[in-house]
Amino acid sequence: MTVVIVGGGTAGWMAAVAFGRLLVPAGGRVTLVESDTIATVGVGEATIPPIRTFHAMLGIDEDAFLAATGGSYKLGIRFEGWSHPTESYVHPFGQIGTDIAGQSFAAQWLRARQAGEAEALGQYSLEARAAETGRFSKPIANGDSPLSRIGYAYHFDAARYAHFLRAQAEAHGVVRCEGMVVRVEQGPAGIAAVHLAGGTRIAGDLFIDCSGFRALLIEGALAAGWEDWSSWLPCDRAVAVPSSADAAPLPLTRAIAQPAGWRWRIPLRHRTGNGHVFSSRYMSEDEATACLLDGIEGEALADPRVIRFATGHRRRFWSGNCVALGLAAGFMEPLESTSIHLVQSGLQHLLRMLPGTGVASSVVIERYNRVMTAEFVRIRDFLVAHYHLNARPEHFWRDRAAAPIPEGLAEKLAMFRDGGRIFREPDELFNETSWLALLTGQNAVVDGHDPLCAALPIARAAHRIAQIEQVVTASLAHMPPHADALARLERG
Ligand SMILES: Cc1cc2nc3c(=O)[nH]c(=O)nc-3n(C[C@H](O)[C@H](O)[C@H](O)COP(=O)(O)OP(=O)(O)OC[C@H]3O[C@@H](n4cnc5c(N)ncnc54)[C@H](O)[C@@H]3O)c2cc1C
Repeated sequence: MTVVIVGGGTAGWMAAVAFGRLLVPAGGRVTLVESDTIATVGVGEATIPPIRTFHAMLGIDEDAFLAATGGSYKLGIRFEGWSHPTESYVHPFGQIGTDIAGQSFAAQWLRARQAGEAEALGQYSLEARAAETGRFSKPIANGDSPLSRIGYAYHFDAARYAHFLRAQAEAHGVVRCEGMVVRVEQGPAGIAAVHLAGGTRIAGDLFIDCSGFRALLIEGALAAGWEDWSSWLPCDRAVAVPSSADAAPLPLTRAIAQPAGWRWRIPLRHRTGNGHVFSSRYMSEDEATACLLDGIEGEALADPRVIRFATGHRRRFWSGNCVALGLAAGFMEPLESTSIHLVQSGLQHLLRMLPGTGVASSVVIERYNRVMTAEFVRIRDFLVAHYHLNARPEHFWRDRAAAPIPEGLAEKLAMFRDGGRIFREPDELFNETSWLALLTGQNAVVDGHDPLCAALPIARAAHRIAQIEQVVTASLAHMPPHADALARLERG
């Protein structure tokens, strides 16, 4: 089988490494076409823990990857001023606490918190406390300690990541072809070939559209259709600027609420990534740029760059013999760092469903499209909750609180209100810990608690919860400064 990948951004090169590693040894051929004259989006620098599984699957060495990309470690995201201008909370990776007397930590903690017998949730999360205090270690081998379960991900330089992946892909036998796609030739299977300026024709069995927002194949040629979500998530612009590196970067992404959106701050080793995601209905590009520049710490290293985007996804991610990944497939703002994960997830599903000849049966294509749509929908609901549950005063935020929300999210909030119940949907990316951190961080209303918790007297539950905090405190003392881990990477 011949696979042709169009686009050499993060998505294109992630796909190239995966196909190079898994398909080339099986006799397949993989070509990646990209044009040096069309820049990649160049942002996309914060990730979530599943990226480590992806790297392991592809045999990517962590230290080599971090060395090549200016990478740093990440233990979660700190949401500043989201629920209320003066409040902040961390959405940590990893688990919080352990079951108590047969009930989840979440249920017991909610009851104890309502009774005034427990601290704020973050106090029981090793990752949250380490992130806030600038500590980091990788999981240790001892299976009983919270130190053995540390959940972590990375921040990295997007352009360097694409270069790094390119070297890996080429080492696996992927052929890179430089050139501008000027025409897409259709055939009975869907796409027959792409034509480059200068006349080269590149034919294939399976085409992967990684051409970014242009979506040259999946939309330009195959008109897969677009599901627009701007009514749920109305931010439609970002302005980005790099600034000088922090002396002691915290292992967390910062998401700082702004009058018409939010700013990100992503600490790398050689610089800091900054951006301001906003809604152009509430703020002009000039105002948003001024707001970004006012907020950056350190010196700006380049001119600010505005990126316009639409929120939503292709109605068909896979159509005929063409599968879209990355920005060509869809986009949701980077509030929870999920876009690169969606590339990874799309690739993993695709590899499980890979047709022998490039032409898949309709049942396979339908399944893939259903699975990817569900993933997008669940992440969308998680993002919308950040906006819906707010007590900020600005027009943008009052409108977000009042706007209708998706049915699935409405049900989740109602279940939580009724005794603090959280149910994870099948294959949902965000687990109970994530929802608990989000809902309590955003001050979601909860009435009562799980009645089964009452099987354990509140004083004993509170004692057990206090013990968990002590274990976290003791574990934290064993974690070295994040700066030490970064210095080790610098030394190589
Ligand atoms: C503001 C913003 C912030 C983001 N932050 C995060 C984040 O923190 N975490 C995260 O996970 N994700 C984030 N993302 C998403 C992430 O950047 C993308 O998912 C990821 O970079 C994949 O992009 P891509 O490869 O699909 O597209 P691009 O980077 O746009 O690459 C498109 C490629 O297609 C090529 N191309 C286009 N047209 C042609 C043509 N005619 N001929 C030949 N080649 C062509 C281009 O040359 C380029 O190589 C962010 C996105 C935005 C917009």
